[in-house]
Amino acid sequence: MSKQPGTETSNPLPLHATGMPAKIYCFANQKGGVAKTTTAVNLAAYLAASGRRVLVIDTDPQGNATTSLGNDPRTLTVSLYNVLIEQTPIQQAITLTDRMGLDLVPSNTDLAGAEIEMSRLMARERLLTRAIKPVIEQYDYILIDQPPSLGLLTINGLTAATHGVIIPVQCEYLALEGLSLLLKTIQQVHEILNDQLRVAGVVLTMYDSRTNLGQQVVQEVKNYFPTEVFQTIIPRNIRLSEAPSYGQTILSYAPTSAGAQAYHALTQEFLARVEGQPLDIVTAKT
Ligand code: ADP
Ligand code: MG
Repeated sequence: MSKQPGTETSNPLPLHATGMPAKIYCFANQKGGVAKTTTAVNLAAYLAASGRRVLVIDTDPQGNATTSLGNDPRTLTVSLYNVLIEQTPIQQAITLTDRMGLDLVPSNTDLAGAEIEMSRLMARERLLTRAIKPVIEQYDYILIDQPPSLGLLTINGLTAATHGVIIPVQCEYLALEGLSLLLKTIQQVHEILNDQLRVAGVVLTMYDSRTNLGQQVVQEVKNYFPTEVFQTIIPRNIRLSEAPSYGQTILSYAPTSAGAQAYHALTQEFLARVEGQPLDIVTAKT
C-alpha cells in the first residue's frame, strides 16, 4: 500500500488496513446546547472501542469537543485554525486522546476570527475537505463537530461530509424550530458543493420521560424525519453532563450509566445502518 503524499515524516499512524477512505459525518444544528458535541464525542468513543479508527475534528471555536476529549484549548500549539488558515498539515494538529484509535483535531478561540479570514481565501468552502485529504485513509470514521451557526465553518463541514450530516435534536419545546433553515442550507450545499450530502440521521437528545412534552416532541420529530430518526433516544442524564469537565467520554467516566447505555445503543444502531454489522466492544475501559 502506498503512502499518502505529505504523511511520511509527521504522521505516526498506520494506514487503515483496507486503504478505504474514511466515512465522514458532520454533526450540525445551528441551535446551541442540543448535544452536537456530546453526541459526536461519545459516538466516537464507542466506535473507537469497537476497533474502528476514529478522528474527531472540532470546528467550534468554543473547543468543547477538545475539552471533552481531555485537551485544554488554551494550551494548543497547533489547532484547526492553523490547518484551515495557514495550511499547516493536519497531521501536525492531530492530538492523540487517552483512548486508542480515537484522535482529535482540536480547536480553540483562534478559530473565532477564522470565518472572516476564510472568506478571503480561494475555495473557502472546501478548506476542510482539502485539509482532511492526506489522512482520509488512516481512519474508518471522521466525525466533525460543528459550531452553533450556519456560517463558513459549518459550510466547510457540510462540504467535507462524504456520508452525511447527523442532526441532534433536543427533546424540548420548539425542537423543530430552525430546522427548516438548516435543511435549506443542507440542500444548497448538496446542490452547489457536495452532491453526496444527505441527512444521515437525526438523534433525539436530553429526553425526559417524566414529561408529556418529551413524548410529544419525539412523535413530532419522527413525523418530520420518519426514516432518519434513530430509534435510540438519549435520555437526560447527569453523568453525560459531568463527563466533559473531567475531560472524559461517558465510556470512561461512567460506563454503566443510563447515558453510556444510550450512546452504546446509538453506536450499535449507527453501525447497523452504516456497516450492517453489530457493535463489538473490544475494550470497555480507557
Ligand atoms: P452542543 O454541542 O449542541 O452545543 P452540547 O453537547 O455541548 O451541545 O450539550 C449542551 C450541554 O448539555 C452540555 O453541558 C452537555 O454536557 C449537556 N448534555 C448533553 N446531552 C445531555 C444529556 N443527555 N443529559 C444531560 N446533559 C446533557
Ligand atoms: Mg458543541
